[in-house]
Amino acid sequence: MPWAPSFSHLYVEKEALGYPLAKAIMERFPNSELVQISDYKEVFNRPKQNFEQQKKSSQLILAVKKDHFLYDGSRFVQDHDNPNFHYNALSLNCVYDCSYCYLQGMYGSANQVCFVNLDDFFAATTEAIVQRRKPEHPLYLCISYDTDLLAFESVAPYSRKWIEYCTGREGDLLIEIRTKSANFSALADLKPQSGVILAWSISPEKVCRQYEHRAPGQNARIKAMSAAVQAGWQVRLCIDPILPVNEWKDAYRELVDSVFNEIEPGSLLDAHIGVFRMNTGFFRNIRKRRQPVDLYYRPWQRANDTVTHSQEERANLTGFVRNLLSTKLPEGCIRTW
Ligand code: SF4
Repeated sequence: MPWAPSFSHLYVEKEALGYPLAKAIMERFPNSELVQISDYKEVFNRPKQNFEQQKKSSQLILAVKKDHFLYDGSRFVQDHDNPNFHYNALSLNCVYDCSYCYLQGMYGSANQVCFVNLDDFFAATTEAIVQRRKPEHPLYLCISYDTDLLAFESVAPYSRKWIEYCTGREGDLLIEIRTKSANFSALADLKPQSGVILAWSISPEKVCRQYEHRAPGQNARIKAMSAAVQAGWQVRLCIDPILPVNEWKDAYRELVDSVFNEIEPGSLLDAHIGVFRMNTGFFRNIRKRRQPVDLYYRPWQRANDTVTHSQEERANLTGFVRNLLSTKLPEGCIRTW
């Protein structure tokens, strides 16, 4: 029997039905079967789900988030030492399927949850701006942390709504919207905001093909990034994780050349680079849940509840890419994990 197409079913919390964002998403899928539920966790957290199979035709769950509208920054990101750093979870899971993604180990379900009560997120953020630990610096909020919002913009225009929320809050709030999508056109009509960073996560073409399933290829992402730069947005370049694929040095050299053939170095805000790292529990879950991928069977180092490269490998990978970038960007603009 063929798989049902993705989003053939919309599971909608009764409480979510009245929210404008829920209505807009339901209108976007007039042919999908609507299933009313009382709590998204009934569907999302159901035991014994098959992540691998669900990913082939994931379904959409519309829900109202009740708490935890912001989380403190994670030790796994480059800005973990910033006391004003937070992230939020507007949507759980992602339309892409990167082999190295921790979400497949964090959640038992591959279905996508969209929280529709944006005003509650905005209210919590406004409160957090007032309460931030270092008021001389803006609250720094990553809104596309556990997902790829721009890839999903045509379904749920989260990025647009957050950019609108940022307007007039310059100096108090700085948001990062990280993406692998080529979908800058979804925001092209908006005026660039100094409180918004658009961050493109790019990889060499061979990494895109081998490990970043469903995401656009290297050049499509670079083109989208270039369009954002030309439109006047603050753009961050992210090369993370740097993966030691065959002939990785050539691959990353070509990638950096391709970026700067297209984009003037001085027009980028900064660059974030890093290597594969993952919570050990998530890593274990992925080995159980997904089809085997070579990444999960190489000699990793396990320390402090984290699976990552040895110190030497990590320094080798980040040092090489850092050197490539430092011929184009000032040292202080390159943040490394
Ligand atoms: S784009 Fe990011 S969130 Fe989405 S699957 Fe890839 S790593 Fe995970």
